[in-house]
Formats: sequence, structure tokens, C-alpha cells
Amino acid sequence: MKYAVIDRGDSLSQSLAQQFHALAADRGFTLNEAHPDIVISIGGDGTLLQAFHQYIDCIADVSFVGIHTGHLGFYADWNADELEELIRHMAEETPRMVRYPLAQIEVETSAETLHYLALNEFTLKGVDGTLVAQININDEMFEMFRGDGIVISTPSGSTAYNKSLGGAIVHPSIESLQIAEIASINNRVFRTLGSSVLLPKHHHCDIISKKEQRIQLSIDHVNITHSDIRSIRCSVASRKVTFARHRPFPFWDRVREAFLGYDVR
Ligand code: NAP
Repeated sequence: MKYAVIDRGDSLSQSLAQQFHALAADRGFTLNEAHPDIVISIGGDGTLLQAFHQYIDCIADVSFVGIHTGHLGFYADWNADELEELIRHMAEETPRMVRYPLAQIEVETSAETLHYLALNEFTLKGVDGTLVAQININDEMFEMFRGDGIVISTPSGSTAYNKSLGGAIVHPSIESLQIAEIASINNRVFRTLGSSVLLPKHHHCDIISKKEQRIQLSIDHVNITHSDIRSIRCSVASRKVTFARHRPFPFWDRVREAFLGYDVR
């Protein structure tokens, strides 16, 4: 087995990474950072986002395992004290491969078309003030948005920024995108739907810039500022991310443990 490890950089995560390398060597695993079969993320969900973007070009060939060194994560579900158990499972058993949907966008600027994939979400915000954008769904005008921003989430990202905006939590078996508003302006003149919207896999949405404006585009944890975005097409990606599950941990158990604070295991 070829593996790579990404850690958050704090002392506990670094020390676990060293322990992992030692245990992996005993089991005959090969460290291969360029072409791993499996990527071990040690830290939190943010660390797994970094690992995902580091290996995005070979996402079809890689599976991820998350170890958390803080609180329970949605992507990081092994505890720091379970390292030996994890390695034993990895060496002796075939994991169940769980595939989660991703979101993709095509960004049209005056000069080029850029393509991005997100594991959690894309966020658009006006840099200098209100974001003004027309939202089309399946090529039909849906609404004119004025406000702080728009978040387009994957199902597994629905528990992140989307949740803070009052969006629904979506099971990752539902291949969909969720569009949530950040502080839309609503009065007699300006009107948006106000609630978040879930699009199925065969639908798409276009966000068309309606004024000269600098837009901050966040792709998960990565922020980019553009001054010449014309439009952004959002859809469910054809590619997915794969997690190697060495033991069951159903999605709704994660939601209950992470947000309601108790577990039944
Ligand atoms: P961060 O600001 O350091 O951390 C954001 C928090 O979101 C961390 O507690 C992280 O968990 C958690 N998180 C990440 N993905 C999650 C998921 N799928 N479900 C539940 N919680 C999740 O930023 P970061 O660590 O680089 O993460 C970037 C993410 O932050 C973005 O993708 C966005 O979803 C989120 N964010 C949230 C808000 C908000 O809720 N108001 C605002 C901006 C960004 P860990 O501690 O385990 O890493």
C-alpha cells in the first residue's frame, strides 16, 4: 500500500504522523507522497480540505482517511488514541469505499474560463460592498441577488458554512448542490427567495455578475479575488471524493455527535 500523510502542523498532529510512519513501516506500507493510494489526514476537517486540494489532480485514484486531533470531524472520524487499531484495519481488511459528491464551477472572466472543484463549498462575496448578481437556474432567470454573498455547498459541506447560514443538512447520498444566501437585501425594491435551494445533479445554476465589482471567490479554504468575473456556472461534479471506511460511522451519527453532543456508540 502506498500512502501519504498530511498533518495540521501542531505538535500532537506531527507526533501522530511520526507514529503513523513507524507503524506503517512495520506493516510494509510504502510512503509515496507523489502517487499514494491512500492519504491520511491528521488534524481536523480543515486538514482534510487541504489534503483534498493537494491531491485534487489524482482524486480518482486516491482515498482518504481522517484522524482528528481536536473535536470530532465530519471528514476526520478516527481518534488520536486509535492509531494502532486503524493501522491494523488497513493492513488486514479491505475497507468499504464511500464516495461523496463534489461541486464544480466554471468561471468566465474577460480573458479565460477557469475550472474548480470543491469538497465543502464555493463562496462568492463582494470585496468592496454589496454583491450584485443575477441567478439563473437551468438557463432561466431565477432572481437578482443583492447582499453579502452566496454559498454553493456540496452535501458533505452542508454541515459547514452552509449550516451557519441556516441551510439544510443533506445526506451525501443525495447528489445535489445547495445555494444559500449571506445577508441578502430584501425590501420593496429588492427581492430574493430568502431560503436556501437544493439543486439535483442534472440541474445547473449560473451566477452572472451585474456590475463592475471585485469578487472574492473561496474554494473551500482557498480565497481568490477576481476583478473581471462575468459569470460562474455551478453544477454537481462528475468526479467524486472517496473515503476508506474501516468501520461504520453513519452520517446522522456524526451529525448528532458533532452538533448535539452525545453519541450512542
Ligand atoms: P476555519 O475557519 O479555520 O474553520 C472552520 C470550521 O469549519 C472548523 O471548525 C472546521 O473543522 C469546520 N469544518 C470544515 N469543514 C466542515 C464540514 N464539512 N462540516 C462541519 N464542519 C466543518 O477554516 P478551515 O479549517 O480552513 O475550513 C474552511 C471551511 O470553513 C470552509 O470550507 C467553510 O465551510 C468554513 N467556514 C465557515 C464559516 C461559518 O460557519 N460562518 C465561515 C467561513 C468558512 P475543524 O476544526 O475540524 O478543522
